[in-house]
Amino acid sequence: ANRKFHPLDTVVDCGHGVKVGGGTFNVIAGPCSVEGDNLIRIAREVKAAGATMLRGGAYKPRTSPYAYQGMGEKGLDILCAARDELDMPIVTEIMDPRDVDKFLSRNIEVWQIGARNAQNFPLLKEVGKTKTPILLKRGIAGTIDELLMAAEYIMSEGNPNVIVCERGIRTFETRTRNSFDLNAIPVLHGLTHLPVCADPSHATGHTRYVTPMALAATAAGADCLEIEVHDDPKHAWSDGAQALTPAQFRDAMARIAKVREAV
Ligand code: PEP
Ligand code: MN
Repeated sequence: ANRKFHPLDTVVDCGHGVKVGGGTFNVIAGPCSVEGDNLIRIAREVKAAGATMLRGGAYKPRTSPYAYQGMGEKGLDILCAARDELDMPIVTEIMDPRDVDKFLSRNIEVWQIGARNAQNFPLLKEVGKTKTPILLKRGIAGTIDELLMAAEYIMSEGNPNVIVCERGIRTFETRTRNSFDLNAIPVLHGLTHLPVCADPSHATGHTRYVTPMALAATAAGADCLEIEVHDDPKHAWSDGAQALTPAQFRDAMARIAKVREAV
């Protein structure tokens, strides 16, 4: 992952014409969880607003085992149907090495490794045995070096297609869900040739902070943003408090484009 050995930016080809890194700019958007029929409606909205990839969790790493755990394979199939209709890559979390075949057989374009699994070394090694693009999140209390070493776990098994993602870290601050480490964006660009994604949704935890921090991450040089969007946030099955509505997402995208022009 070290830029010393690879001065040129890595460009990760996510399929459907989407390339991440090396001066491109991409936005991944969609609900926290796949919930059913609303996925395709949200997907159409985010695509129309300029999102280039669709996200949605089918396997959810919830703090409580009694909270909604995701639709599993049915959720993957709903995502794949949206991908096929809209011709856009899908991004979804893999939590268990035993699920690799389910993800491979459906040609899921980008596998997310969540913050809670950022140091799940057997999982990192397993996804490293494929060539699938991996969106690797920073650990909840992970340092930048730990994030880069997690990327090494994937790359050392033979998969060079890693996108690293700043999603906020745990600090003493309680006004936001996490503390968004904007520093990490230029720091990562200096240390690694891998594309850098930023997730202002999990980093802040509150809808009203998502757009300002998406703008800040764009200005700081993120190659990619991941933003949660839901058509009825109050009734979302997970992370409704940080979801943008499709209208709020459209507004955010217009402002992000202005920041891109300015920097
Ligand atoms: C998510 O993307 O919904 C998620 C659980 O993210 P993180 O692993 O960053 O908390
Ligand atoms: Mn979420």
